[in-house]
Amino acid sequence: MPFSALLRPAMLAASRSPRMERTITRIPTTKKLVDRFVAGDSADQAVAAVEALLGSGRYVTIDYLGEDTTEIEQARTTVTHYLHMLSALGRLNSTAETESVRPLEVSLKLSALGQSLPRDGHAIALEHAHRICAAAAEAGVWVNIDAEDHTTTDSTLGIVRELRGEFPSLGTVLQAYLRRTEGDCRELSGEGSRIRLCKGAYKEPASVAYQDRAEVDASYLRCLRVLMLGDGYPMVATHDPALIEAARECVETTHRKPDEFEFQMLYGIRDAEQRRLVDEGNHLRVYVPYGDQWYGYFMRRLAERPANVAFFLRSLKPG
Ligand code: FAD
Repeated sequence: MPFSALLRPAMLAASRSPRMERTITRIPTTKKLVDRFVAGDSADQAVAAVEALLGSGRYVTIDYLGEDTTEIEQARTTVTHYLHMLSALGRLNSTAETESVRPLEVSLKLSALGQSLPRDGHAIALEHAHRICAAAAEAGVWVNIDAEDHTTTDSTLGIVRELRGEFPSLGTVLQAYLRRTEGDCRELSGEGSRIRLCKGAYKEPASVAYQDRAEVDASYLRCLRVLMLGDGYPMVATHDPALIEAARECVETTHRKPDEFEFQMLYGIRDAEQRRLVDEGNHLRVYVPYGDQWYGYFMRRLAERPANVAFFLRSLKPG
């Protein structure tokens, strides 16, 4: 088994370990690498990053970092952060072009809004997401609900279905590594739907998820085709050159226009490719995370690429 195949599960397990979090976040040089993937601790820093991205023709989806919230107060604080960000984005948006595709979006993790609270987690997350969707609609900003580990998928899709009655532009994410996702794509590719398709970033058991990279890629291609043939707005979230090429071919064969799909990538990853896709006339949205709860997000980014881990380990060497 290649080293990277052993490293990924170990890094993903570490991403959920409070003990590892205490150790890694205390290392002074960690923050330098974090800054590559995270737009800053504060809303002001995030807004500055957003303005720079918009200036380069890219669109954005902004995530206030945090997940697996165990305290209701923390979930409420997360809502407050989103409301504050949305009023800042509303001021930006007043000068942005208005068209069928919104340049500004926020991404929410329901576990940060209380979904994993032991009592009434689903209802609390629904209520919190509703408040954010209402404020976003006022500000002219789209909302997308992120996908987390598979134990949350049914609750998350249930909340999305419920909210879409009132907020039809609400988007969500499907993860190609889950065996169920091709079916979910069929169900959710109807008119008005906005689905972000990604490979999936969590450590999942073989009973629910493909483990082999080639199987995940094959599933991504099947799901992509279902979404592109459907009536919704597919959001192709990947940095993988083979999948980007496949998406371009799919766009051609399904005769989709530039306003009928978009590419998405993460902040700090493949910047030149992001600009190239924009130069070619595509919509390209960057996922912009900010806030000080970066540990889980950062570890998942390290897990995706052995080179990032090597870079991190080298940065720990003194001198
Ligand atoms: P990979 O095979 O992982 O990467 C292909 C190539 O891209 C690599 O060879 C490398 O050149 C480059 N690359 C990839 N990752 C990195 C990195 N970390 N650092 C440097 N280079 C890299 N996952 C979820 O589970 N839920 C979500 O809600 C979710 N939202 C996402 C939103 C967006 C906009 C994107 C782009 C991804 C999201 N993901 C989400 C993460 C996704 O599931 C993958 O874990 C991640 O995108 C890596 O997969 P890949 O498709 O880029 O392919």
